[in-house]
Amino acid sequence: MKLRLAFSRKGKTDPGREPVIARVVKETGVLINVEKANIDSMAGEMLIDVPDKDADQVRRRLEEMGVTVRVMENAVVRDEEECVDCGACIGVCPQEVFSFDAEWRLVVSAERCVLCGKCIRACPHGALSQQG
Ligand code: SF4
Ligand code: SF4
Repeated sequence: MKLRLAFSRKGKTDPGREPVIARVVKETGVLINVEKANIDSMAGEMLIDVPDKDADQVRRRLEEMGVTVRVMENAVVRDEEECVDCGACIGVCPQEVFSFDAEWRLVVSAERCVLCGKCIRACPHGALSQQG
């Protein structure tokens, strides 16, 4: 399951100043895959992937440390009314989220998405968006 994390780094005791991911891994034994991270001097955002069965535990521990956690059920969402199955999103996605089925209809494997945003910019019909 993918979790989107947001944290402040403004104050010396803010969660972004602490090794929160390493701490959760050490305390829980859950292996966390960091798929994306944008961190500057004031704040940070991360996309992490954890096994579904461990997601509640990881989320709870991160929130206790002051991190804002949002569960991403579907990282990229396709509006089926707008999609014309042109395939422009297939070539730009680094994660191979998109493919065609036997009838040349677009198939979306959203669990692979790392929220890079390339497909959203590439779609000529505005059919793709990020959850939340
Ligand atoms: S946001 Fe990036 S990783 Fe996710 S589906 Fe689009 S191109 Fe692929
Ligand atoms: S680029 Fe947009 S319209 Fe084309 S297949 Fe992908 S989602 Fe559908």
